[in-house]
Amino acid sequence: MSSPKHLPVIDGHVAESSLQTDGSRKRIIPADVTGRFMRWRRVVFVLLIGIWIALPWIPVRGRPAVFLDVETRSFFLFGLSFNAQDTWLLFFLLAGFFFALVFATALLGRAWCGWACPQTVFLEGIFRPIERLVGGTREQRMKGIPGAKRVVLHVLYVLSAMLVAHIFVSYFVSLPRLFSMMRHAPTEHPEAFAWMIAITGIFYGNFAWFREQFCVVMCPYGRMQSMLLDDSSLIVGYDEKRGEPRGKKGSTTGDCVDCKRCVVVCPTGIDIRNGLQLDCVACTACIDACDEIMVKLDRPKGLIRYDSQEGLRGHKTRWVRPRTIAYAIFFVAGGVVAFFAARTREPFEANVLRLPGAPYTHQEGAIRNSFEVHLVNKESHAEHYTLSVDVDPGYQTVMPMKTIELQAQSAQRIPVFVSVPDADFHGETAVKVHILAEGSKAHRDTTVRFLGAVSPPAPSASAPTAPAP
Ligand code: SF4
Ligand code: SF4
Repeated sequence: MSSPKHLPVIDGHVAESSLQTDGSRKRIIPADVTGRFMRWRRVVFVLLIGIWIALPWIPVRGRPAVFLDVETRSFFLFGLSFNAQDTWLLFFLLAGFFFALVFATALLGRAWCGWACPQTVFLEGIFRPIERLVGGTREQRMKGIPGAKRVVLHVLYVLSAMLVAHIFVSYFVSLPRLFSMMRHAPTEHPEAFAWMIAITGIFYGNFAWFREQFCVVMCPYGRMQSMLLDDSSLIVGYDEKRGEPRGKKGSTTGDCVDCKRCVVVCPTGIDIRNGLQLDCVACTACIDACDEIMVKLDRPKGLIRYDSQEGLRGHKTRWVRPRTIAYAIFFVAGGVVAFFAARTREPFEANVLRLPGAPYTHQEGAIRNSFEVHLVNKESHAEHYTLSVDVDPGYQTVMPMKTIELQAQSAQRIPVFVSVPDADFHGETAVKVHILAEGSKAHRDTTVRFLGAVSPPAPSASAPTAPAP
């Protein structure tokens, strides 16, 4: 029989999961585990949390390395600045990230879930260690954490959620503003305070209570696994050929002694021996747990290991295959487009607009057009601009501001008036406005049409009139 191309569906009666067959939730209290993967994961969690805390503190060209200033709709990423007009670039950045994730998943399975997803990093790096510290071992926690300790535990959860929420908010309001808000009464910044309370509440509810349910029932990436993985993707898997028939150590049994240690350490409550399941977040806890048992039994490690489904069947894993090639092409194409789009992005925006109202005025023997230059500095620093107007001979230009300084991510409207005496008017013509950024030497020409018409001369009172026939 050919092997299935999708994740195996397990009979509800044998499947173990945090979700029971009637849809109710089974509370999971995973046992502690130590081992090489757990040690490396802790290192990765500390690094990622450290980077996450540091990014709003590290200045790049006078701004935080990552600052999503929602108030002015400006975004600063490692010295690059973007505003609302650059939203199209965001599409390529997100598309590049999406295809990177898809490509990584086809090769490495759910490595993102187990090692780098914020849900895993905060849960396993902050909240679960607090639970173990206050509540004790799994057996103690299963009996129920006594009242006073439970209060301490939840106070620590709330404080941790608050800390995570504050750092999260600093990405959107900047650290100086956050510190200033923290020193003042909430009534002086009710909106930010409400956001902080809401985010703290969401983080507390998620990390103290919802936990693995987020991965199992809510995360869209988790739902996509059956599409993204194939038989050659790296997964955390059980070597059935070697382990079965499971049972007490004997000459007729395989290497699995059915100790269920891999089940009790699993944060989503599944039994990996049932095969690859959507609930598996590839956390590697069952690898460490089983390796510990194998060492005690003096058997080779790796009964549960990182391998592909092909590898677990004893076949060769195909790293290069049509889907990995296709995903790699999309990923590289998205990255190249995003790179060149970011490089060709202009450091300022300039548009010449006709002022509302009549397109031109005709007074005292001259035609006049009124425009304004809408100038936006997209850089993360202030810039000086010089403006000049190029128009046909005979036309006069009045521009109150020929040079202007614009602060980072700010905009200004500059009026421009162009007029021509009737005698010199020779029809519609182009008015070219030249803008030069003095610092970057970037320049731009933008053109608008000069409109007008000379009124026919009014009939003179002394002019002879034709006799009536
Ligand atoms: S930990 Fe290893 S030996 Fe124990 S039940 Fe799981 S697979 Fe079998
Ligand atoms: S099956 Fe293993 S890798 Fe998957 S979530 Fe459970 S413990 Fe983690």
